[in-house]
Amino acid sequence: MSTAKDELKARLLAEAEASIDRMLADDRMGKQMTISEIEDVIGDLEMDFRERVLSEVMGEQESQTLSCPECGGNLRHKGRRSKQLTTWRGETELDRNYYQCETCGQGVFPPR
Ligand SMILES: [Zn+2]
Repeated sequence: MSTAKDELKARLLAEAEASIDRMLADDRMGKQMTISEIEDVIGDLEMDFRERVLSEVMGEQESQTLSCPECGGNLRHKGRRSKQLTTWRGETELDRNYYQCETCGQGVFPPR
């Protein structure tokens, strides 16, 4: 495995551990739960871990996006902006780096 993948794996494992720690600290874990309560606890874990992985993988992709997807021009960093994202789990708002193409002016939030 490449070094970059090893580093990403290490970060993802740390995020998984943080999500698991968060689940174990949940008050509901110390009580007798119904199946639907267990599903809720696991659903929270999934959502938390999913957001952590999304953020890690987007950061990884972003570092690989160096040119405009429209014209191939150079991208200039224009600061961070929040963007509404629709994922299969629903709406989420993320603070992301925003770039603008020096050639065609296209605004880019990598990855698209
Ligand atoms: Zn462009």
